[in-house]
Amino acid sequence: LTGRELLSDSDVGRTIARMAHQIIEKTALDSADPAAPRVVLIGIPTRGTTLANRLALKIEEFAGLRPAVGSLDITLYRDDLRSRPHRPLERTSVPEGGIDDSLVVLVDDVLFSGRTVRSALDGLRDLGRPRAVQLAVLIDRGHRELPIRADYVGKNVPTARTEDIGVLLREHDGRDGVYLGQE
Ligand code: 5GP
Ligand code: MG
Repeated sequence: LTGRELLSDSDVGRTIARMAHQIIEKTALDSADPAAPRVVLIGIPTRGTTLANRLALKIEEFAGLRPAVGSLDITLYRDDLRSRPHRPLERTSVPEGGIDDSLVVLVDDVLFSGRTVRSALDGLRDLGRPRAVQLAVLIDRGHRELPIRADYVGKNVPTARTEDIGVLLREHDGRDGVYLGQE
């Protein structure tokens, strides 16, 4: 993989830790308030799910409470399905207890046009009725085509449309890192 390094291996770990703290704070996850919502992290495969699992471990480390993690394959919900090359369906897994009345945090690696997140919102509707939905992304590279924004952003990276963010995660790539390269 070539390109300029945006986040080093240790930067990625620090960024995920910071996002975990922000999720705890904004969702009042560590509060003793019995009315505080149950927090569920739903990753968008593949790397969004990996990030959701990492965030859950960090949140447990910092707040003593591990949120449930699920996974939502959005392939069937895309409005541009026909124009995209076929890929195998990834697994959708609903966490035990479902998502009804919970605070769902959608997790993805890169936010671009916003169409994936829009599709994920469609997909969530079939899984249950959350009290609220938030969005966490490791990288926001701009170029939104829909009125969608992230509640938690690891790093904002202004990009050209022709550029491509490379996201490496230990579980898939042997090490962590984020790179900016050409398509
Ligand atoms: P969107 O639907 O917002 O246009 O694109 C977001 C989805 O496409 C995410 O699931 C993300 O994984 C992928 N994606 C879009 N742009 C990039 C990019 O520059 N690098 C990587 N690694 N993934 C991207
Ligand atoms: Mg993706």
